[in-house]
Amino acid sequence: MNRSIARLGTTIFEHMSGLARETGAINLGQGFPDAQGPPELIESAARALRERSNQYPPMRGLPELRAAVAGYYAAHQGLALADDEIVVTSGATEALAACILALLDPGDEVILVQPLYDAYAPLVERAGAVARFVSLAPPDWRLPLDAVRAAITPRTRMLLLNTPHNPTGSMISEAELAELAELCTAHDLLLVCDEVWEAMVFDGSRHVSPLAIPGLRERSVKIGSAGKIFSLTGWKVGWVCAAPPLAGVIARAHQFLTFTTPPALQWAVAGGLALPAEWHEAHRRVHAEGRAHLARGLEQAGFAVLPSAATWFQHIDLAASGIGLADTGFCERAVREAGVATIPFSAFYAQAPETRFVRLCFTKPLAVLDEALERLAAFRQRLIAEGEAPPRS
Ligand code: PMP
Ligand code: GLN
Repeated sequence: MNRSIARLGTTIFEHMSGLARETGAINLGQGFPDAQGPPELIESAARALRERSNQYPPMRGLPELRAAVAGYYAAHQGLALADDEIVVTSGATEALAACILALLDPGDEVILVQPLYDAYAPLVERAGAVARFVSLAPPDWRLPLDAVRAAITPRTRMLLLNTPHNPTGSMISEAELAELAELCTAHDLLLVCDEVWEAMVFDGSRHVSPLAIPGLRERSVKIGSAGKIFSLTGWKVGWVCAAPPLAGVIARAHQFLTFTTPPALQWAVAGGLALPAEWHEAHRRVHAEGRAHLARGLEQAGFAVLPSAATWFQHIDLAASGIGLADTGFCERAVREAGVATIPFSAFYAQAPETRFVRLCFTKPLAVLDEALERLAAFRQRLIAEGEAPPRS
């Protein structure tokens, strides 16, 4: 048995969703909407299943989907992508695996930024590469450029970033990307950027991809996912975009991972990406409503809520909310005692975790959020009454 795989436990998302199913708790843990998904895309997938080929599509993805990805990024992010710069994958997870396997040799070093999505470090380790961690600091979670610079060694090959960022909801600015361009050029680094949350940005924030930055265009890989753009997390249709030499080698890794992605879903995603900007705006507004509702309700219940510009998540600061438990203790008790599943921030760390913060997903009907809020408010009161409040300084 492979030792590094055997050592892995179940992900925090599986763990919390499993507990939610077992106990009947409201699940604000794993990020997924309760809604079925946009009817336009579901209808179009059903039609494609009936009317189009159900056999292997081309390894790099249907030409129509690759053209639609290019069209979407031209319209929404001002990027110019050619077809040999796009490879369709089975979700962003496979895209990450393909990039890491294709671009790293054993012994290469990769800079990872904590808190980090759970797949990054195990995939780097499986490739025989070495992760070097830098950490974002609360409450604004800005990228620590000096720490990134200090983590670079002669073996560093790649910087793996995530913007908009899960779990914090922070975003890397255009000015920060310009500084990274200098750093990556000076040290000949590749930049792989997980941009799955690019469409879920709120309050007028604007997502900027490294591919839009001159010094980064040729040395960056952009990863996207229809799961987040269309609220269809189970479809697992994703893609990578990169200059042809990078896209070519990533495609070679992809051909021995999943090789292709179900064609009916590719057709439906192609149609979805071509929907007008107003459709995408309206889709985002539905999420913005849940976001505002959860943030307001948490504040009214006495929780300290952190700023979060993007993603499907809002966060609470336990200590600042008067709660003396660490995140894992809070989440384990909340799912069982309050009937609400949430995610502890510490699960997003490989070392030196922050343990004060809890992530809550807002993509639920408002009535479900209201019920969860009522339960969490009562739970907070109970914890405080139990004397779980931190000692006064
Ligand atoms: N990267 C990040 C930052 C994510 O949050 C997620 C899922 N939420 C993924 C990758 C995985 O995306 P997919 O489901 O398309 O594999
Ligand atoms: N990306 C999802 C989240 O952050 C979880 C995906 C998974 O369960 N692997 O909630």
